Amino acid sequence: MPNFIPFLRPNLVNVEKYINLLQEIDQTNIYSNYGPINTKFEQVILSDYFHNRGSVTTVNNATSGLILAISESKRKNARYAIMPSFTFAATPLAAIWSGLTPYFLEVSPGSWSLDEKLVENALQELGDEVAVVVPYATFGSAIDLTYYNSLQERGIPVVVDAAASFGTNHINGQFGIDFSGSIVFSFHATKAFPVGEGGLVYSSNTELVRKIRMAGNFGFDENRSSISLGLNSKMTEYTAAIGIATLEHFSEKVKIRQEIYKWYKQLAEGKLLSKGWGLQETQGSIAHQFMPMLCPKELRNNDIVQYLLEKGIQARTYFSPACHQQELFISCPKGDLSFSEDIASRIISLPLWEGMKYSDVEYIIESLNKVE
Ligand SMILES: *Cc1c(COP(=O)(O)O)cnc(C)c1O
Repeated sequence: MPNFIPFLRPNLVNVEKYINLLQEIDQTNIYSNYGPINTKFEQVILSDYFHNRGSVTTVNNATSGLILAISESKRKNARYAIMPSFTFAATPLAAIWSGLTPYFLEVSPGSWSLDEKLVENALQELGDEVAVVVPYATFGSAIDLTYYNSLQERGIPVVVDAAASFGTNHINGQFGIDFSGSIVFSFHATKAFPVGEGGLVYSSNTELVRKIRMAGNFGFDENRSSISLGLNSKMTEYTAAIGIATLEHFSEKVKIRQEIYKWYKQLAEGKLLSKGWGLQETQGSIAHQFMPMLCPKELRNNDIVQYLLEKGIQARTYFSPACHQQELFISCPKGDLSFSEDIASRIISLPLWEGMKYSDVEYIIESLNKVE
């Protein structure tokens, strides 16, 4: 038995790989404000991941990115941000900071992502009161954006919380490419593309990204006169340096993570799935952040996390409680959320990090197999 398997072991690129960029910063004395290293970072991402179609802007974290994207695209005089309850608290928090009220809807049982039919029903019912729709690409999975594209065309803005989906490929390449709403990625240390704190907003709509970037710089126009409700979301040159160095090793990191995911899946497909355990139905080739699983209905995730800890395995229960069960969001309007509540009591996030061995995964699955 291994001594202790942590849930995550963030593994940022080693300083040797970007020391030359740090020395450049010492030379230029430019530390922030979309300096040369940030510009390079954005250019490489735009060309290598988005084939130079549309625009990107870096942000200091995905939460700022969500606030800016929601604020800059929301319909005026409307109140609601439609979103799943099964997401991280940053999604509804961003809506509230943008002056909106989260409106929680149910996720689909297979994908654990916002149920489009329910979105459509809510749009029919709420009409002009809907300011924005904020789906979440759950746990780094891709989601089909066809329906959300049609919403954009109908004049209903869409901001996708794709926090864990940078490096996830779908039909046309990087998830989100060519989407005319906003796609918001996180580069937090715990995500697959880690720089510490950071993020990125992409849209095929260059004008929208320009507005988001302007709002992220105090809402200043060319004359340094605030023209929108801005904030400071700028990424430092130091962080951008880590970003550039991370890009060089990223595809390797993703491959390792996919391999570990495959081990989990193969080992779980034997016994566990026949005993009522569940896996997410995913789309695309995913840059996995961790390994989410549902325990059988008659069990409780918190008991299993405790049991695993006794076995030396650290697990989590992302995202439990669901947002609508958290104090701040309890009074937000919502649809029927019985599946979200079910999943919140069954979701278990298992360790997945570069450096995990096959025997670690075997040990984790064996331990789960012994749960009564
Ligand atoms: C990580 C995460 C965020 C927040 O990202 P930060 O960069 O830490 O602000 C938002 N939404 C979801 C779903 C996340 O997983």
